[in-house]
Amino acid sequence: PALRVVLDDGSGFDLTEAGTQKRLAVYVVRDPADVPGIARLGPDPLADGFDRDRLAALLAPESRLLKGALRDQSLIAGIGNAYSDEILHAARLSPFKNAGRLTDEETTALYEALRTTLTDAVERGRGVAAGHLKKEKKTNLRVHGKDGEPCPVCGDTIRSVNFADSSLQYCPHCQTGGKVLADRRLSRLLK
Ligand SMILES: [Zn+2]
Repeated sequence: PALRVVLDDGSGFDLTEAGTQKRLAVYVVRDPADVPGIARLGPDPLADGFDRDRLAALLAPESRLLKGALRDQSLIAGIGNAYSDEILHAARLSPFKNAGRLTDEETTALYEALRTTLTDAVERGRGVAAGHLKKEKKTNLRVHGKDGEPCPVCGDTIRSVNFADSSLQYCPHCQTGGKVLADRRLSRLLK
């Protein structure tokens, strides 16, 4: 499902849900705090105040996989399964890296990849009809959903790691020093 909201001043936003579990919900309220769960939402990574040090501070106390931390809405809002794959690929980081143990250089690379990837996605989504958003998004993904295809950066074969209810894609050459990651069909490992 997809929902496009257009406000009186012409601005607006789109909501899409591509997963199999249909978790998208829409609330119209006067105060955002009235929405169940919204108080637990993390910061908007495209907000002006979201700088590199903010990202570093958010990740520092984490001890789980970077992939799981990135798509945790209570840590950082708005990054799903697809864009977390894209961000990690752009940053040349393994999805299985420990989120709390990034070097300064890795944090900087992650921050820049995150801002660039999300900004580009927002720019491209403008002017696209809501019904075509999913297709538009898919066309521009570099690794997510591209299992078996060549990496657009290095030509290595993109690989997949399967979990109980989702999967991630990555490029071994760009992200894991050529190492192929084992399947983990246990969703707890992503939490
Ligand atoms: Zn590659």
